[in-house]
Amino acid sequence: MNILRSNEALQQWSQHQSLGQKTVGFVPTMGALHEGHLSLVRESLKQCDATVVSIFVNPKQFGPQEDLSSYPRTEQQDLALLETLNVDAVFIPSPEEMYPADFYTVVDVPALSQHLCGASRPGHFRGVATVVTLLFNLVRPDKAFFGEKDFQQLRIIQTMVKDLYMPVVVVGCPTVRESNGLAMSSRNKYLSAQEREDAGMIHQTLVELKQMVEMGQRDVDQLLDVGRLRLEAVPGLKMDYLEIIDYNSLLPVAPVINIQQAVIIAVAVFLGQARLIDHIDVKEF
Ligand code: AMP
Repeated sequence: MNILRSNEALQQWSQHQSLGQKTVGFVPTMGALHEGHLSLVRESLKQCDATVVSIFVNPKQFGPQEDLSSYPRTEQQDLALLETLNVDAVFIPSPEEMYPADFYTVVDVPALSQHLCGASRPGHFRGVATVVTLLFNLVRPDKAFFGEKDFQQLRIIQTMVKDLYMPVVVVGCPTVRESNGLAMSSRNKYLSAQEREDAGMIHQTLVELKQMVEMGQRDVDQLLDVGRLRLEAVPGLKMDYLEIIDYNSLLPVAPVINIQQAVIIAVAVFLGQARLIDHIDVKEF
C-alpha cells in the first residue's frame, strides 16, 4: 500500500494509474475509520481498478468553537485497516501541505449550505467544498464515494460537480449503523456507553415517523411534534433541528407532505459531547 504525504506524490501516483489505463476510485475521509468508511472503500474497490483513500482532518470545515483539536486521530489503526482491505494508496497530508500560506481560494454552494447543519456550523460546507475540490484536482478520480449519512454534504458535492462540470462521478453509499440503529460516526467515540445506547432513539424516531407517513399522516407539524416529543425524552438530548425537506432543494416541505416528491426527514441533536445527525427517506413506498 502506497502511503503518500505530499500533493506531488499523490499527483504522480494518480498519473501513473491513468497511464496504466486504470480507473481511479477516491474515498475522502477524516480518519478514525469505522465500518461506514470501510463500506465506501469496499464499493470503490469493487467499482474501480485502483483506490486511494485520503485521511485529512480539514481545519477549514471546523468552526472556532468546534472539536478540531480533540477530533479522534488513529492513523496507525486506520492504515492497518486499509491494508487489510488491499487499498492501493492512502493520502495523509499535513495541513501545511494542503493549505500553504498563499492559499486563498474558497469554493461555496451557498444556497444549499446555510440552513440545516449549515445554520449551526457557519462556514462548514464552504470548508468541505473547498477541500473536496482541491482533493479532486489532485487525485483526478473517475469516481468518488461519499456516505448518504451526511446527506447535505452529499447534495452539495453532487451540485458542485454538476454546476462546474467536474469530470468525476459521485457515488452515494448507504448509511452503516450500529445494531441499535445509531448511524456510525467517528464522533460516536465522544458518547458514553449509556449515551450510545440512548442514541438509538434517533433512528427509531425516524423510522416511527416514516411509518406514520406510510399510514397516511401527511401533516408536517404533527409529524414534527411527535418526533420532538420522542427525542426530547432522551436524557440530556438537545435538539438542533428536526425538519421535513425536499431532497433536491433541501428546503422545508409544508404544510403537508406530497409523497410524489423526494422527501426526507432530517435530524441533528446534541448528546453529551457529540453532535449527531441522521435522516430517513420517505419517498419509497
Ligand atoms: P468523515 O470521516 O466523517 O468525513 O466521513 C468520510 C466519509 O464517510 C463521508 O463521505 C461520510 O459520509 C462517510 N460516512 C461516515 N459515516 C458513515 C456511515 N455510518 N455510513 C456510511 N458512510 C459514512
